[in-house]
Amino acid sequence: MHRTILGSLFVFTALFPVAMRAQAQETKPDSDAVRALIEKTRKAGGSMWSDEVRFFCEAPRPNRPDDPVIAPTKIFDNLYVIGNSGTAAYVVQTTDGLLMIDSLGANQVETQLLPGFRALGLDPAQVKVILIGHGHADHFGGAPYMQEHFGSKVYISAADWDLMEHPSASAQLKGPPPVLPKHDQVVAEGQPVVLGDLKVMPVAVPGHTPGSMGYIFPVKDGGKTRMAAIYAGTILTPNIISDQGLETYLQSVKHFQAETKKAKVEVEIQNHPLMDPIQTKLDRLKARKAGAPNPFVVGQAGYQTFLDVMAGCTEVNIARRKQ
Ligand SMILES: [Zn+2]
Repeated sequence: MHRTILGSLFVFTALFPVAMRAQAQETKPDSDAVRALIEKTRKAGGSMWSDEVRFFCEAPRPNRPDDPVIAPTKIFDNLYVIGNSGTAAYVVQTTDGLLMIDSLGANQVETQLLPGFRALGLDPAQVKVILIGHGHADHFGGAPYMQEHFGSKVYISAADWDLMEHPSASAQLKGPPPVLPKHDQVVAEGQPVVLGDLKVMPVAVPGHTPGSMGYIFPVKDGGKTRMAAIYAGTILTPNIISDQGLETYLQSVKHFQAETKKAKVEVEIQNHPLMDPIQTKLDRLKARKAGAPNPFVVGQAGYQTFLDVMAGCTEVNIARRKQ
């Protein structure tokens, strides 16, 4: 009992300065210049990305434990999504087993991850590779279970293995350290991860964490190959990111823009799909008539605009600090 009380005190003291800072920034009204930047981004986003502009520029929020669970869904011929509206894991079927991107949190393995595999008729023991978007426990928390029970190989960038294995003092104060996967494979830009007929291109997108990654890979849409991308290091709460972190993030979004443009990406998925929001897309997918477009296909120009909005709202957040 004592330990618990002491534990929550630690959490409180560790988070308090951050909360204060966030509040101070939020209560300052936007200057005319900041409002103009938001309007510019809203215009650029058009009707396709209006929810995203609202989320990133005006009402960002972290994922939460009570984010509603989504129905595990096959969203493309070879791509499945499992999780909740705040945090999702994706499973790709290949000719040599399954590749999973992210693994949800440790406390969601029994409640969301494994039930998701069952609901989809997929065997979790077939997961050969897990690519982690970045080294936070809501993404790697399920990986130790998969590694231990099914021998899945866990890929994380070198910088985020380091972040996980040598957390800063402030991170340690936030509570008991999460259980880490055993040190396994390293994912790096320029080194594709291949499983069966699937080739995933990793792209380094530091900012949210030093080793955040984006992944570009093909999906099959009614037999047609389309390139998909996940920016797996999205900043949901800009207030807790340093000035330097936001600048790095902005450069990373631009870098991802160049890489996804080259790869002709036209499918948008996210591991924190709050900005989409994913439930709306899943509802549209369910109601889709034969031959109608898949709501996750946003087109090549549409995908670039998605990233334009992420960059635009990051500029808004940077400008807010300078006003
Ligand atoms: Zn994170």
